[in-house]
Amino acid sequence: MSRTAISIQNESISCIGQGCMGVGGRFSADTSRDAEQVHALQQGIELGMTFIDTAEVYGAGHSEELVGRAVRGRRDEVCLASKVSPEHLSPVDLMTSCEESLRRMRVDHLNLYQIHWPNPAVPLDETLEAMVRLREQGKIRHLGVSNFSLPELKRIQCILGSVPLFSVQAEYNLFERGAEEEIIPWCARNGMLFIAYSPLDQGRVVGSAVLRKRLSAVAGRLGCTPSQVALNFLSSREPVLTIPKALRSNHIRENATACDIPLPAPVLEEIDRECRVETELVPWRHIRPVPDKTGDHAVYTLIEEARANLAGHSPSAQDLAMEIVRNDHIKPIRVTPITGGDGGFRYDLAEGRIRFWAWVLAFDGERDVPVLVRD
Ligand code: NAP
Repeated sequence: MSRTAISIQNESISCIGQGCMGVGGRFSADTSRDAEQVHALQQGIELGMTFIDTAEVYGAGHSEELVGRAVRGRRDEVCLASKVSPEHLSPVDLMTSCEESLRRMRVDHLNLYQIHWPNPAVPLDETLEAMVRLREQGKIRHLGVSNFSLPELKRIQCILGSVPLFSVQAEYNLFERGAEEEIIPWCARNGMLFIAYSPLDQGRVVGSAVLRKRLSAVAGRLGCTPSQVALNFLSSREPVLTIPKALRSNHIRENATACDIPLPAPVLEEIDRECRVETELVPWRHIRPVPDKTGDHAVYTLIEEARANLAGHSPSAQDLAMEIVRNDHIKPIRVTPITGGDGGFRYDLAEGRIRFWAWVLAFDGERDVPVLVRD
């Protein structure tokens, strides 16, 4: 039987949702493709992907404006989720952020409001108290969090007491399967939704060419596409909701039907076995901190710059370092191998630029860095 909806805390959520990072621009507004992007979201809704995930930071707010346009006239059919950025977690800022999101979307409430990333510089109980206030005011129906570790999630649950946490969002795809170990089972046990972000590994589907080939072989046998197999595999674990971002019409159609036919147990086992990527431990001095190709983030190349937080990141690498020591946990850093080697470096830092320095600062460079190697 196909899994068409996920039932969580008396809400019925579409089995596949739509992500909106890049809709309306990445981290600054881009209005050049508005009509096409609104149409793409509407096509997704028509095809049943009625859960929509956006954030105040996407397109510097323009993503929320386009989502608002896409749902106009059919607000009740969709489950609207947005996120507040880590630099806005003080109660006053959080209330303002939520108001601004509602204004941009031209709606009177959000179905789900999520803390985008933790910010250890702001007391968590104050942030959660403000979230609960928004819920009491009817501005948000449910509250959720994103990118929190299990010890932090347990702390949140304690602080919230009788107010239920609705969802936990984290990266989950065939390249990054860390959430399977603890967080997804914890969500299942606690009746919460697990929202899998970047389920197609940002379009790579899976991080390495070898794994892509293996996945294509499975897809070929089943008569579907590698992306459909990937989404179907992730969705086979309850309570996982995947939120692929797709603007091309064929992608939207593929995603909407990805879970129509459940994968048989032997196929799930085969993918589990054949497409597994293990986290590796690498000395930090082997990793070259190179600039982000998009130019979206300032990059520290020296430990002193990171310690001094010259670019004014919030949270800073030092803030995150304290959290890492407390939880003894980090989401693995992404690296790509350097061919030929250069100045002792063996990898380029591809993703997780602040987290990388946070780990180095946390352990004074004495503990190797957990990485996922992508080709
Ligand atoms: P993704 O959904 O894993 O991948 C998006 C890319 O895959 C796009 O280039 C898209 O192309 C392509 N694609 C979509 N469907 C496809 C298909 N069927 N076959 C082949 N390619 C396909 O990446 P993402 O945008 O990073 O993640 C999804 C959503 O998760 C985001 O949009 C955002 O809402 C959320 N997210 C949250 C966080 C967080 O910190 N909480 C972080 C990252 C992402 P086209 O657009 O050209 O169709």
